[in-house]
Amino acid sequence: MSFDYDLFVIGGGSGGVRAARIAASEHGAKVALAEEYRMGGTCVIRGCVPKKLMVFASGYSERIEDAKAYGWNASGDSFDWPQFRDHLHTELDRLEGIYRSGLDKAGVEIFDERAVVADAHTVKLASGKTVTAKHILIATGGHVVFPQGIAGVELGISSNEVFHLEELPKKILIIGGGYIACEFACIFNGLGSDVTQYYRGAQILRGFDEEARGLLAEEIRDRGVDLHLGTNVIEMERRDGRIWTKATNGREDVFDQVLFATGRAPNSGGLGLEALGVELGRKGQIVVDEYSQSTVPSIFAVGDVTDRINLTPVAIREGHAFADTVFGGTPRPSDHELVASAIFTQPEYGSVGMTEEEAREKYRIEVYCASFRPMQNAFIGKSERVLFKLIVDQDSRKVLGCHIIAEGAGELIQMVGIAIKMGATKEDFDRTVAVHPTISEELVTMRTPVRTA
Ligand code: NDP
Repeated sequence: MSFDYDLFVIGGGSGGVRAARIAASEHGAKVALAEEYRMGGTCVIRGCVPKKLMVFASGYSERIEDAKAYGWNASGDSFDWPQFRDHLHTELDRLEGIYRSGLDKAGVEIFDERAVVADAHTVKLASGKTVTAKHILIATGGHVVFPQGIAGVELGISSNEVFHLEELPKKILIIGGGYIACEFACIFNGLGSDVTQYYRGAQILRGFDEEARGLLAEEIRDRGVDLHLGTNVIEMERRDGRIWTKATNGREDVFDQVLFATGRAPNSGGLGLEALGVELGRKGQIVVDEYSQSTVPSIFAVGDVTDRINLTPVAIREGHAFADTVFGGTPRPSDHELVASAIFTQPEYGSVGMTEEEAREKYRIEVYCASFRPMQNAFIGKSERVLFKLIVDQDSRKVLGCHIIAEGAGELIQMVGIAIKMGATKEDFDRTVAVHPTISEELVTMRTPVRTA
């Protein structure tokens, strides 16, 4: 049976674009890709990239204060949000162009429209055109989820709208305690907004190392975020152009913006998948095997729509592995072990491997931990502390997990991730001579466990 294409990719985000490019340019497949919005997906257009640029922008206020304490004559009294925002969008346009030209160069045919699956080998485009493909890859990502049952919830915004705000909110409420909530609490705080954060649970960043969560919450508070744990919003109303809110603890307050960072869900609805018999999970995620193949053999899926590890580099790896497996003749399962990641709060939190709590369940462990005020902060009387933590298996001596809270922790954890992925033992860390004076030398100088379990 002949098809119009070897591969039709639905979704032009990180995972879909990587799969399309590799299949076409490295393995000679005839590929088409449909994207209904902008090329680059969540990461480039409304996620990691604009967020990180906002992280950079928001970090300067503190640097200016630090510079003054170090003797510089500096002033950073105001931040020009419209100038920054317009510059941000110019940059995103540039990046979107790079994604598009990368596909063009690889010979991928692009359809700038929505596509749905009509049958196991047929895709229907919004224009009405129907095309066939030997393989279909769903890489449609995820979408923001707003909580149910809150009166006036529609007055709130999500992270999608943050990058388009007309003006910087003077006072903002952030709901949630996950990656996005914590990152934006720090970003708005750094940009000069008055930030309140409500999290319904007992501690932010559920699932992360408890000791690290505790320190990070303290640091976020110390920097000025008014963080309320065990608290949620229950009612919202527009009052005098602002948003009045009532919380579960009875607290009433008025904000210029309310940002819901209450999670994301896979974009699998309305694609025609259920009718075809593609198995979906409880959250709507496409159920796939280690080769990203769904329960319909010609249909594959990568990235957030599969809800495995919802991170851009993971989606890219999944897309690449899929292309090598299906078109390169080298079956390659996606590797989800020991994926390092960072939360771009201020300070940052980088982690790889197990939390202390997870490790304790499976191994006899030693915990090495150092929390201290770095020289750079101590010099100017800043109280901010850093945390370096290694969790070690007492039997194999392997380092099972590393947790770092510090400025630049995202950069540091990338390097530690290599060692841990290679199976480094505590003694390998110990044999490594310190780089002095740095904060990360603690990683190779911690000699005595703070506890064993
Ligand atoms: P998360 O799942 O990380 O966090 C969602 C938060 O919202 C949790 O604190 C959750 O609470 C809370 N929540 C959920 N439902 C409600 C509700 N009804 N009322 C109040 N609070 C609620 O999602 P994010 O949106 O922060 O991020 C989505 C994903 O994007 C992340 O999982 C991550 O994979 C990725 N991401 C990665 C980044 C990075 O690598 N730096 C940055 C940003 C996003 P509870 O814990 O109690 O469930």
